[in-house]
Amino acid sequence: VETKLPAVGTTIFTVMSALATETGAVNLGQGFPDFECDPKLVQAVTGAMERGLNQYPPMAGVAALREAIAGKLQSVYGHSYDANTEVTVTAGATQAIITAILAIVRPGDEVIVLEPCYDSYVPNIELAGGTVVRVPLVPGTFRPDFDRIAAAMTPRTRAILVNSPHNPSATAWSREEMLRLQELLAPTDVFLISDEVYEHMVFDGQPHQSAARFPGLAARSFIVSSFGKTYHVTGWKVGYVAAPAPLTAEFRKVHQFNVFTVNTPVQHGLAQYMADPQPYLQLPAFYQRKRDLFREGLARTRLRLLPSQGSYFQCVDISAVSDLPEAEFCQWLTREFGVAAIPLSAFYGDGFDQRVVRFCFAKKDDTLRAALDRLARL
Ligand code: PMP
Ligand code: GLN
Repeated sequence: VETKLPAVGTTIFTVMSALATETGAVNLGQGFPDFECDPKLVQAVTGAMERGLNQYPPMAGVAALREAIAGKLQSVYGHSYDANTEVTVTAGATQAIITAILAIVRPGDEVIVLEPCYDSYVPNIELAGGTVVRVPLVPGTFRPDFDRIAAAMTPRTRAILVNSPHNPSATAWSREEMLRLQELLAPTDVFLISDEVYEHMVFDGQPHQSAARFPGLAARSFIVSSFGKTYHVTGWKVGYVAAPAPLTAEFRKVHQFNVFTVNTPVQHGLAQYMADPQPYLQLPAFYQRKRDLFREGLARTRLRLLPSQGSYFQCVDISAVSDLPEAEFCQWLTREFGVAAIPLSAFYGDGFDQRVVRFCFAKKDDTLRAALDRLARL
């Protein structure tokens, strides 16, 4: 058959998780926690099931959850979203992103992505008939290069996708960078799809610079987040999109026909659980401690540490350890040293190889120590 996505194969996350399972390696590849979520959250969800909340919810999401999300966005970022017309509950961030793209990108529209980028963005744009315009983040630092972004903008530019804190590089945009973006987009009609799934994992006392904090960005943004990341439940696949009412209306036209609605009892459980802000307010400290434990161990190897400002990822430069290309290095590390990682080349359209690989530290301390024991032999 003539395929719509000829370049797309199995995702690197699936490939590396399968190899980790096959070889019995410690899996620091695919990003997901190996520890349990808060039992109170499980009780809130099972309680909703027991109360019979098991049929279709409203198309846009359970009202109490949309109100809890709007309340959080107001209290944390100071931007008020109308829970009825500006917040939509989605089947994870993945569905939020493709739905936003399908809602706004018309055939021939250009969409800017900053590489390295999460692997779903490019196929999503292609499925919408859009043209992908790739702009590299600065090699080595992964900071946005505003001259290059400006140079990539044309009258056909419809949207730009930004992800901070960033998967895979673990950088987080500064306030100055967000202001630069706001200034750059000000004279245009370009939409911003702001992938903020790691919004509650920013370290070293820095605030998360949500697009919601910047009125000129919020007015043109689909802000995307994921409860899977925030509450350690990646398998539940529930997230949300916040966007101004006219954008939300377009979003929901697509949403009602690609999922229609999202898991009812999980939404009720999340709404109840969100009443307490502590779980997300404590998340930076929770992950910063794991980051530091992991970095201390890695510092004793010949892997060179890159900064980790946010997310649950830690990147390392492998050049002092091996001459292998990143992808082969990850296979070799998994098979010979029993630790799975993800090559950054998987996040570039042309497979750009800069000798950097990504580890996920959303793991029990014992798992991180077991991985570090193995990496110490490198
Ligand atoms: N965006 C980024 C940057 C991610 O890392 C992930 C998680 N892999 C997603 C989106 C998708 O999130 P979800 O699991 O909620 O669909
Ligand atoms: N977001 C996760 C990661 O980057 C994986 C999600 C997936 O497997 N698609 O590792």
